Amino acid sequence: PLILGIETSCDETGVGIVRGHTLLADAIASSVDEHARFGGVVPEVASRAHLEAIVPTMDRALAEAGVTIADIDAIAVTSGPGLAGALLVGVAAAKGYALAAEKPVYGVNHLAAHVAVDTLEHGPLPEPAIALLVSGGHSSLLRIDDLARGVTPLGATIDDAAGEAFDKVARLLGLPFPGGPWIDREARAGDAGAIGFPRGLTAPKDLAAHRYDFSFSGLKTAVARWVEARQRAGEPVPVADVAASFQEAVCDVLVGKALDACRTSGIETLVIGGGVAANSRLRAMAEHRAAKHGIRVRVPRPKLCTDNGAMVAALGSHLVAAGVTPSRLDLPADSAMPLTLVSV
Ligand code: ATP
Ligand code: MG
Ligand code: FE
Repeated sequence: PLILGIETSCDETGVGIVRGHTLLADAIASSVDEHARFGGVVPEVASRAHLEAIVPTMDRALAEAGVTIADIDAIAVTSGPGLAGALLVGVAAAKGYALAAEKPVYGVNHLAAHVAVDTLEHGPLPEPAIALLVSGGHSSLLRIDDLARGVTPLGATIDDAAGEAFDKVARLLGLPFPGGPWIDREARAGDAGAIGFPRGLTAPKDLAAHRYDFSFSGLKTAVARWVEARQRAGEPVPVADVAASFQEAVCDVLVGKALDACRTSGIETLVIGGGVAANSRLRAMAEHRAAKHGIRVRVPRPKLCTDNGAMVAALGSHLVAAGVTPSRLDLPADSAMPLTLVSV
């Protein structure tokens, strides 16, 4: 079946088209430049940008795939979680196209879509699998027994998300928004062992209650203190070394806990998704350490890690193949959609 996916949960208007596990089109319009001067995404600006971009992006995706809306078998759309006004634009568009072209519609979870997108790169996901979901708003470890029906949370961040930590540290280093890709770039010229930043929730006493949870706010504060001390002393801040050392601390904890979850449950597949999965150090470290334990790491190409429509189409395609019932045409835009709910 030919599945079209619509994504508007944050600042990317994405429309993707897939057939089975094959990606046919991935059109994206981003309002990121409009938010950059505010140092974060401005919800009203994002909603308006989606409204302007949704139809042209839809047309671009259909043209790229060489199909018309009549050829599409089902439409999937991000129902949540995300910015309420932004989600509404995608959901309303999906309903409009579904009604006009008489197609079934699936309201899907953006976070499950971050995991499902890997099927476009590596084919069907072996189940059970452990998923490390690391994005701008979320950091979770999940056990996946049947992605079409639900995911089981093993742990999550108790404060900042990984991507949020990257963005905040980038900001205090004077790097542009969003900072994740900038830290990644700066870190390549730095020494990851230069500064020993803390590894949150990895001390024996923390592991007892928070074995699979994450905490990045202490790390962020440690970086801020370190930079301030330098500035007070009138010394230059070695941006590349700070970036590399911070990045190393984040990746060390993420990879350590994800592999612990795999080994403890005897699961041999680790899939990594979300914007932070685009990080070059995270990818390399995960592959390297997993290989020692015979665990296979699946992480899609960086472009598929950050928000896009293809990921929504990929999850829709998986749901259709699994025989999941479509959503009702009055499906909601749910800004607080729980992680455990894969579709509505
Ligand atoms: P959520 O998926 O939780 O709703 P989101 O959709 O806003 O949040 P994503 O697009 O999945 O987030 O990810 C964006 C985040 O990924 C940002 O915080 C960004 O800095 C981070 N990011 C992107 N590329 C990299 C990279 N190379 N290294 C580290 N972080 C990165
Ligand atoms: Mg974005
Ligand atoms: Fe996302």
